[in-house]
Amino acid sequence: MSTVTEPRVITLGTGGGPKVWTSPHQEDLPRNGIATAVVVGERWYLVDAGNGTFTQLKRAGLDVSRLGGIFLTHLHSDHIVDLNSVALFGMFDLVGELPSIPIYGPGDREVLPETSPRAQSPVEPIYREDPTPGVSSLFRSLMHAHATDLNDRILDALRPSPLDVFVPQNIAIPAEANFHANDNPSPLMDPWVIHEDDRVRVTATLVIHPPIAPAFAFRFDTEGGSVTISGDTRPSDNLVTLAEKTDLLLHEAIDFDWVSTVYPGRTELERASADHHRKSHTSPVEAGEIAARADVGRLALHHVVPGNSPRAVFQAAATSFAGEVLVPDDLDVIALNSLRVR
Ligand SMILES: [Zn+2]
Ligand SMILES: [Zn+2]
Repeated sequence: MSTVTEPRVITLGTGGGPKVWTSPHQEDLPRNGIATAVVVGERWYLVDAGNGTFTQLKRAGLDVSRLGGIFLTHLHSDHIVDLNSVALFGMFDLVGELPSIPIYGPGDREVLPETSPRAQSPVEPIYREDPTPGVSSLFRSLMHAHATDLNDRILDALRPSPLDVFVPQNIAIPAEANFHANDNPSPLMDPWVIHEDDRVRVTATLVIHPPIAPAFAFRFDTEGGSVTISGDTRPSDNLVTLAEKTDLLLHEAIDFDWVSTVYPGRTELERASADHHRKSHTSPVEAGEIAARADVGRLALHHVVPGNSPRAVFQAAATSFAGEVLVPDDLDVIALNSLRVR
C-alpha cells in the first residue's frame, strides 16, 4: 500500500508546447504547461517550469523553502517560461536562513542551428552577439530584467535577492561523448550523475530533440523508488539506457494525426512545422515501445500534445507496453514504487 510519505511525483502541468490548451471536448482539462515535482520526504525537486508552474506548485501544497533543486530538460520556452515566477514569487516562501537552490540546465549551445532547407528567403537570427545563452546566462538576464522590482524590495523592504538563493549551473556533458549541438547532438552514451544529496541521486543523458541541443532526460533514484523523466525527445536509445528498470517512466507523447491535421503541408511554413514535430517527438505507441525495452514498472505519458485530446488517444501506448499505462491529469499524485510493493 502506498502512503503519502513515499517518494512520489506530482504532475504540476502535463501539457506540451508553447500554447495554452483550452478544452472544447472535455470538462476535466485544460492542462497547464509541463512541470513535474518529485517529492521525497519533506523535500521536493522541480523538473521543468512550464506555464503556470508557480500557481500549480502552490495548489499542490509545495513550498519553495523545501525545494531541493530545479532541473531543466532543455531551453524551449514551454519548459522554462515560469522560472521567473518560481524565482521571484518563490522568494516570499522563504523565512530565516536562506537555502541554496541549484538550477541545472543546458549550457550555451555555442553554435546557431542550421537554417531550414525550406527557407525561401534569407532568415536572420536575433541577438547575434549572444544568440544561444545557456541557463546561467539566461537566469542572470531574467533577474536583470526585473532589477527595478528587485532593487525596490532589496533597498526599501530589506528583502533578500533571488541571486543569493538560486544558483544556476550549466550541466557539463562528459567530454568523451564528443557532443556538438549540430554535428553530434545525441551521441550514444552512458548516463552520468549531475546531482546527489541525502535524498536523491540524479543522473542525466542526452536525448534527441533537434534542433535544440543539448536536450536532457533525468532519472531520480531514491531509497523508496525511482523515476525517469524523458524531456522532449523522439524515441531515444540513450533514454532506454537511462530508464532501465526504473519504477516509473514519465515520457512525452504527441498525436501525429493531430500534427497532420494542423500542418497539412500547404505551405513551406506548415511543412517545416510538421518536420519539426516528426523528428523531435514520440507517438504514444513509440513511448510504449521505449517503456517495454527499458523494462520499467509503469509508464505515465505527459507533455501530451495536443493538450486537449481525449485520453484514449494516448492510451494507445498500452498496445506496445504490457505494464500499467497512466495518462495523468494535472496535480495527480503518483507513487514511485506502488507497483513493486503491491
Ligand atoms: Zn516541450
Ligand atoms: Zn521542446
